[in-house]
Amino acid sequence: MASLAQSQRTTTWKATNKTADKAKALRARIDDDVEALAKAVDEVRASETFKAYLDVQASFHRYSWHNSMLILSQRPSASQVAGYKAWQKMGRQVSKGEHGIMIFAPRPFKTERDKPNGDSETVEGLTFRPVYVFDVAQTDGEPLPEVDVPTVDVAADRLLARLSDVARARAIALTFGKIPDKPDAFGTSQNGAIIVNDSHPTGQQAKTLAHELAHESLHWADKERGTFTRNLAELEAESVAYVVCRHFGLDVEVRASRYIALWGGDAKSLRESLDRIAKTARSIIDDAESVEARRAVA
Ligand SMILES: [Zn+2]
Repeated sequence: MASLAQSQRTTTWKATNKTADKAKALRARIDDDVEALAKAVDEVRASETFKAYLDVQASFHRYSWHNSMLILSQRPSASQVAGYKAWQKMGRQVSKGEHGIMIFAPRPFKTERDKPNGDSETVEGLTFRPVYVFDVAQTDGEPLPEVDVPTVDVAADRLLARLSDVARARAIALTFGKIPDKPDAFGTSQNGAIIVNDSHPTGQQAKTLAHELAHESLHWADKERGTFTRNLAELEAESVAYVVCRHFGLDVEVRASRYIALWGGDAKSLRESLDRIAKTARSIIDDAESVEARRAVA
């Protein structure tokens, strides 16, 4: 007959084994989910809408800092800016009576110069001449191709409450309301504080909160700064949010896959981040479940 101590040991061993099995199963499920998301992202990238969107984005110039300041000072509301002919190529016309925004375009030049010894030499240089560009709001015509990133339009009150508890358990200052200076933003976070825009359905709020929790874990701590690009940070945070939401039965695949594609992500970059995504998603899922379990006992 087994002693009491022995049977206790067996129970503990069984429990540990069960936890390990559960963790393994969860990791396998997360891997599958990330793979499904990776495929969905590549499907978005292969779509005609996305290609048309990229083509148009490519025709918008990256302006120098100086020119960006000139654009901003003359038209603070400017969002997408291009020259007269560039707009025509995109199927749009500058509206009658609109004044252009003046910027400086570099113009390389070459000139012959006499050297003191009588020879001549070619000198190359750069001058700047004023050119005029127009904001999209000053043009009419074909709508620009856009990739619609739909709001998660369902309620998920319980998941939102669970994730709010996770934020509090992690000593993150969580507030709900409009984001200052960015009324259209869904949420924001900055090393220890998260704001979630509460004017959207609770499913969207839960997705946003999971995304910001991921940023808090992966990106905003001082030691992490400068070790990733913004594109990578968005890819990782959105993937974590996708995995967490899916675990709790909320489907955000359409939104997440388009969001990631718009931030330049693809299946390959997602797979490269798999370990970081899986680890962070797991810790949020574990915390959400243990906070709720503690609450049920209390
Ligand atoms: Zn983000």
